[in-house]
Formats: sequence, C-alpha cells, structure tokens
Amino acid sequence: MTEHAEYRESREVGEQAREKEWRHPSFARQLFLGDYRLDLVHPAPTPPDEAAKRGEDFVRALRRFLDAHVDPVLIERTAQVPDDVVKGLARLGAFGMTIKEEYGGLGLPYLYYCRALMLVGSYCPALATLLSAHQSIGVPQPLKLFGTEEQKREFLPRCAAGEISAFLLTEPDVGSDPARLATTAVRDGDEYVLDGVKLWTTNGVIADLLVVMARTGKKISAFVVEAGTPGITVKRRNEFMGLRGIENGVTVFSQVRVPARNRVGKEGEGLKIALTTLNTGRLSLPATCAGNAKWAVKIAREWGTARVQWGREVGRHEAVATKVAFIAATAYALEAVCELTGRLADDRRNDIRIEAALAKLYASELSYRVLDELVQMRGGRGYETAASLAARGERGVPAEQMLRDSRINRIFEGSSEIMRLAITREAVDAHLTAAGELVNPDASRQERAQALRRAGRFYATWLPTLVAGTGNLPTSYAAFGPLAGHLRFVERAGRKLARSTFYGMSRWQGGLEHKQSFLGRIVDIGAELYAMTAACLKAEEDSRDLGRRPYELADTFCHQARRRVDALFARLWDNSDTRDVRLAGYVLDGRYTFLEEGILDPSIEGPWIGTPEGGDSVWRKIL
Ligand SMILES: Cc1cc2nc3c(=O)[nH]c(=O)nc-3n(C[C@H](O)[C@H](O)[C@H](O)COP(=O)(O)OP(=O)(O)OC[C@H]3O[C@@H](n4cnc5c(N)ncnc54)[C@H](O)[C@@H]3O)c2cc1C
Repeated sequence: MTEHAEYRESREVGEQAREKEWRHPSFARQLFLGDYRLDLVHPAPTPPDEAAKRGEDFVRALRRFLDAHVDPVLIERTAQVPDDVVKGLARLGAFGMTIKEEYGGLGLPYLYYCRALMLVGSYCPALATLLSAHQSIGVPQPLKLFGTEEQKREFLPRCAAGEISAFLLTEPDVGSDPARLATTAVRDGDEYVLDGVKLWTTNGVIADLLVVMARTGKKISAFVVEAGTPGITVKRRNEFMGLRGIENGVTVFSQVRVPARNRVGKEGEGLKIALTTLNTGRLSLPATCAGNAKWAVKIAREWGTARVQWGREVGRHEAVATKVAFIAATAYALEAVCELTGRLADDRRNDIRIEAALAKLYASELSYRVLDELVQMRGGRGYETAASLAARGERGVPAEQMLRDSRINRIFEGSSEIMRLAITREAVDAHLTAAGELVNPDASRQERAQALRRAGRFYATWLPTLVAGTGNLPTSYAAFGPLAGHLRFVERAGRKLARSTFYGMSRWQGGLEHKQSFLGRIVDIGAELYAMTAACLKAEEDSRDLGRRPYELADTFCHQARRRVDALFARLWDNSDTRDVRLAGYVLDGRYTFLEEGILDPSIEGPWIGTPEGGDSVWRKIL
C-alpha cells in the first residue's frame, strides 16, 4: 500500500469509530466555534447530597487506608504492589468506585472517583494507575456503556470485588494507529478463536479479566476474555522509566477460545467502544495529574522556606518564586479542570468528549512541567532518590520519581499529539460539515464547487457572530468579581480562535489536516481557555468558604494562561513550521549524518519493532 493509501485507511478507521452525533450540548465544542456558553457550565452541576456524602466518606476511608497500610517507598523499591494492599483496597470497594451498586460497586459520582484518584495519584502513582487501568479502560467501563445485562451481571460484581482487569489494544505494530491491528478473532460456532500479541498491557500480568480488541474480518471487535483461558501466555513483565509498580506485560494469544456471548457490542464496533470508553474513562488521568501538582505545592512551600541560600529562603528569590507561583496556580487550575469535567460527566446533560480530552491533554502536559519545576527548585536534592535522601538522614521527597512517573501521562491513553488531532477533529466538526468536500483532498472539481456554495451559506450567518460579544462589554461577568476581566478575555479569545480556525481553513482547505502545528496550537488555546473558565468557576465557588483566598490563585493562573494564549495566537501565523518540516525531512533522509559524528550509541542491538517470537522470557502460560 502507498503511504497516501495507508494514511487514508487509518483516517477512515478513525472516522468510522468516531461518535458522530452530538445529542447533548458541549461547552467546549461551542467554545471552539466562538460561542462562549458559560451557562452550560455555570453554576457547575453538583452531585446529590446523598451521593456526595458517600463520596466524601469513601475518600476519607481511602485516605486512612493509604496512610496506614500502603508504603509507596516499598512499592517503588520492590516494583510491586503487595497483595494485602490490593486486598485491602478491594475490601474498601476501590475496584468498583464507578460500578453501580446493583452490580456490587460503590456507584460513586465521577467527581469522587476523580478525588479518590487524585489522592492515590499524589501518594503512589503506580497504585493510581492500577485502579484507573482497571476501572477507566478495563472491563467495567466498556461493559457499563455497551454491555448486555447478562454481561454486566456476570462480570461487574467480580470487578467490583477486586478481580483485576486490563485493556488490551496496543500491539507491537499498533500504537496510535489501530488500523494496523493484527490480532484476529475468528468465529467458530458459539466461540471466537483469538490469535495475536498485545503489548504494554497495564495490569495484564496479574489480571483476571481482559478486554481485548481483535479484528473480526475487516473491522475491530471487543471481547471480555478470562485471563486464565488456555492459549494465553504472558511473555514478560515490562520495565519503564517510571511507574515501577505497575504489572505491565506482553500477552500472546494462541488459539484462545472465547464464548461469542463475551463479545461487547456488535461485531465491528470494537474501536468505537474503545474510543467511547475513553471519553469519560480519560478523567482518571487528569485526576492523577492534579494530585501530583497539589503535592508539588506542598513540597514547594515547605522546601521553599526551609532552604536558605544567599541570605534568603530559596522560594523568595525571584527566579524560584516564579516557579512557586506557577506550581501553585497550575495546581489550582488542574484541580478545577478535573472537578468541573467530573461534575459535567455526572450531570449527563452535556456531551463531555472534548472537555475530557482537553483535560487529559492539558493536565498531563502541565503537571509534567510542574514536577519539572519542582525538581529544579529542589536543586541537587530534586535529582536524588527519596531512598537515598532518607539514607543520608534527610527527608525522602520523591520529586524525581514523581517526574519519571508522570512522563507517561503524555503518552498513554492517547499521546498528546493524537489528543490534539482528535480534539481538532471534534472542534472543527461544524466547519468540516459545512465545508465538506471543500476540504477533502480527493474531491472532484464539481463536488468542491457545490461544497463552496454550501459553506458560503454557513459562513454568511456564522462569521458576523464572531465580530462582537459579551467579552467586549466592560460590565459583563460581574458576578465573578475580580475575575470578570478574565472571563471577558476568554469570550473574546474564543471568537478569535474560531476566526483563526476559519482563516486556516480558507488558506489550506484540504491541506489543513496536515497542518498539525497550526491545529495543535488551536487546541492548546482551547485548552487554556477551558482551564481559565474552570479556575474562575472554582474560585467563585471557593470564595464562599471564608478561610480561603482563591481569587489570587485563579487570577494569577489566568494571567499566566493569558500570556500563553497570546503567544500561541502569535505563533499561529508567525512560526518556523514550514522550515521545521523541511529540515526534518532532510534529517530523516540522512542529509546530516555528520551531526552524529563524535558520539557512541549505547542502544542494545535488535529490530525497531519486535516480532511475536522475539524475546524468550515466559511469565505465565495457560495450557
Ligand atoms: C507504561 C505503559 C502503559 C500502557 N498501558 C496500555 C494498556 O493498558 N493498554 C493498551 O492497549 N496500551 C497501553 N499502552 C500503550 C500506549 O497507549 C501507547 O504507547 C500509545 O498509544 C502510543 O502508541 P505507540 O507507543 O505505539 O507510539 P506510536 O504510535 O509509535 O507513536 C510514536 C510517536 O509518533 C506520534 N504519532 C503517531 N501517529 C501520529 C500522527 N498521525 N500524527 C502526529 N503524531 C503521531 C505519537 O504521538 C508518538 O509521539 C501503554 C504504554 C506504556 C508505555
């Protein structure tokens, strides 16, 4: 297949799996269209009192359990979560936080699921990953959304009771591009027979239940598979830069027989199920990121005043003070984003697929920067492990570990690059519908002419709405007090964002989808505007609690975000993208191999992409 044909196939597979309908309003979708619908998120929906009380009680009990029974240093050192921790969490109900009570779960609102993961993520990210891989992408979430009643009754009580589940999509040759999926599921009477290799299966090494994506003919289907089924081999347990405690492996399927009743949804719906699962499933990751950032605030405060250099507490030297401010303001915004998105997910009146994706992208990128700044603030101690610090008689702060652990957040559950593509697709959906064939590189001249007329009609009514809005009125959003100006900025910037998207589309038409840097900045601006909105809403709510001073945090965050937004807008049109792409081409073509002179590559020899037969370790084989 040519490169173009392969690209088209991948795009088509993604397109088919997309949820195309918008049954509910979406704040973020409107934001990208320049229509700032604050009414969709303000006042932010709150869970009913009874559910909130159960949520609060659970998070308190979880905190007590973590404090008394979980030793994150031990998990890091032994690279394993002890059995009694898993059992204790199961007794608390932590494996069934979002599973309905009728299926044995706690049935907590997403808001409290997020708060629980924020807590666990701040203490032990590997443990948060175990819980979230099980609940957000493992068996419970797809069954909750697409399972039959029979499947729910069979599997959900087991998941809630602590049987661990894993989600198996990735393969050696399939990461961001599921069109290449090679694992097959062939129907044989009342069963399917599965063959293939799955890579990087979080929880896969110890899982009882697996959700497996496999090809049924041309399309992809999803199956719940008992991990103890004959023919399944866990080939090895992988090791990573961080998250040392996760049980992540390579799982090989060889003639694995799965009852046909274990197929989730219809044949061919697998990818759609996987993507829809992630719509709300993705909320766990921003929660962990917010937990990391909030922890960083604590360490920044304590260390920033404890360490004195050049006659001053280090946190009061301006170069460090700006880091403290960035860490605190960002932590506040990340918690706000996480809570707002969780509350919207509970409320179900809004479609939150863009918000959840923005939350994942934004929280993973920003929390990594926060932790990086924390390491810098800690100086040499930031680079030293907690165990080594403690062995020297100092406080064992795991800043370097948190940084390592958080790095993967920008890669898994949709890498930042793929998130930007996915959000772009949703955000410009209205334009694409209006412009249709105009932006299709394969459209005929006649189709384009028709599309031009249709687009003309759409833009004739839409463009005038972008000229002025509430953001131009100096008195609007007055209820937000000192933050009103920031919301006016968001409203104006939203319209500018929509206009910029339109200019981009007029300029590049069918080529727009390849302008990934331009589109990425559009998405990043949208993410900043969403975060600013969330921070202002949270501050307005927090200000009712008299002991707090949330306005300063939200205000400083908004000032920082506005600088980033301004810079992103400027770089939409003034950048080195074309040069960069040209240079990258030369690099990849080998024009500058002389640059690689004078170095020695320590990599171990081997193929870039392994074969199923590769490596000889066998962790567990079911005969
Ligand atoms: C610790 C860990 C845990 C994981 N857990 C699971 C799990 O439980 N289940 C599971 O199924 N998978 C899991 N994964 C896999 C993870 O989801 C993938 O690593 C991720 O989706 C990226 O795929 P890839 O690594 O193959 O990168 P590739 O797809 O090879 O991408 C390489 C780079 O190219 C970029 N890229 C790719 N395509 C495009 C494009 N069209 N445009 C622009 N940029 C592009 C990517 O963003 C990335 O930067 C895990 C991975 C790790 C490391």
